[in-house]
Amino acid sequence: MTKALIVIDYTNDFVDGSLPVGDPAIQIEQRIVELTKQFVQNDQYTVMAVDLHEKNDPYHPESSLFPPHNIVGTTGRELYGQLADTYEQRQSQIYWMDKTRYSAFAGTDLELRLRSRGITELHLIGVCTDICVLHTAVDAYNLGFSIVVHEDAVASFNAAGHEWALGHFKSSLGAEVVSNWQVNG
Ligand code: ZN
Repeated sequence: MTKALIVIDYTNDFVDGSLPVGDPAIQIEQRIVELTKQFVQNDQYTVMAVDLHEKNDPYHPESSLFPPHNIVGTTGRELYGQLADTYEQRQSQIYWMDKTRYSAFAGTDLELRLRSRGITELHLIGVCTDICVLHTAVDAYNLGFSIVVHEDAVASFNAAGHEWALGHFKSSLGAEVVSNWQVNG
């Protein structure tokens, strides 16, 4: 099965910035970096799916739901911690993909890119488990992709939502929920 890794919203704002997950997100930094390096080293398609907002956008539905976050051109929108270095060093092998909704599929060319590469299995990591990771997984399910969610590389500010989403991935989306997984393992 041809695999792709989708790293979702692991930016300063979502880890410890204006819309922070906090500790649970900080704790997965090493694992996010490790999985990103593993996929890149094994020539598997690797995508940074990164939320993008315009400043004071009255037309965006999130404007009334959340404080401003991931505003274009701000440090809040940069990748967090060591993932920023990993991306910089391997930029030519990682696809940076702006997204403006929770799902990495909404309004992007992600599906076309995956289909043209024959990718059938999506590995999801990042934040938040019960918002952007969940909505991406639901779209992946509806589009017929196999889904693997890495329990040791997703996090949320809502502990109950995190647990619920992990159950939903398995029971309703047929996803594999894994830990300590290796690309060749
Ligand atoms: Zn957003």
